[in-house]
Amino acid sequence: MLLRNLEELNRTLSALDKGASIGLVPTMGFLHNGHLSLIERARKENDIVILSVFLNPTQFAPGEDLDSYPKDLERDVNLAKEKGVDYIFAPTPEIMYPDGFSTYVEVQGAYTEVLCGRSRPTHFKGVTTVLTKLFNLTRANRAYFGMKDAQQLSVVKKMVLDMNIPIEIVPCPIIRDEDGLALSSRNTYLNDEERKQALILNQTIREAKQLVLDGERDVNTIVTFVKEKINTMPLADIDYVEIVDFNTMRDINKVSEGSLLALAVRFGSTRLLDNTILL
Ligand code: AMP
Repeated sequence: MLLRNLEELNRTLSALDKGASIGLVPTMGFLHNGHLSLIERARKENDIVILSVFLNPTQFAPGEDLDSYPKDLERDVNLAKEKGVDYIFAPTPEIMYPDGFSTYVEVQGAYTEVLCGRSRPTHFKGVTTVLTKLFNLTRANRAYFGMKDAQQLSVVKKMVLDMNIPIEIVPCPIIRDEDGLALSSRNTYLNDEERKQALILNQTIREAKQLVLDGERDVNTIVTFVKEKINTMPLADIDYVEIVDFNTMRDINKVSEGSLLALAVRFGSTRLLDNTILL
């Protein structure tokens, strides 16, 4: 059932059995199999599953792709229903940010300063603000996030810990296309040649992981290897390739358990993310 405003959401939640567990899957819509894997996991672990579809303006900076981001709510609703979602909460920006809105939630320090935080300094503040609202609004017991956005997951876990938000954050693995490209709503922006060249991302992180399995631990060596390999693709424009500790998001010199190799690379105007836990 589609819920378009706070009154519909509140009425629905109030009518639920008080003991019912609620799983939330927050998305920006234009669903693909990555989103659907989160829904499947939520469906297994909760009595009620809520999918939110909200293209959150506060996590986009001026000049980013807020206006061109792909949308198809009708398709999303149908896919969600097929997967057994109970409620789809799809509010408007005016509902989430009414006139006079003036409160933001921000995780500070390395969590939001490295990786995507360098080129998108206001992004995570928008993410943590909207997620605080969605957690409060849906009264969810669990929320499901993809490792595809590893930094987002780390930032959200930190926010929940620091702010004592009574919700369990459930990480879910990256879902890839058959050819290895990590699924993303933004993949629809890629032309054929860009998409072909973008396969270098998954290939390279797999090779980097193999280097580590073979005993390499030096962060500079691995980062240099990854950058050189990606740069063999003429359309690739690296935003960052970094290795950090996944739990703290701090820079490291040596790979150890929980080290995250994360990258953002542009192909044409499309900025793609990929990552792996190296060890
Ligand atoms: P988005 O709609 O891009 O904001 O993504 C909503 C949720 O789906 C986030 O938790 C993402 O990490 C997750 N997600 C997006 N792409 C994938 C993927 N390829 N595999 C797993 N989860 C994903």
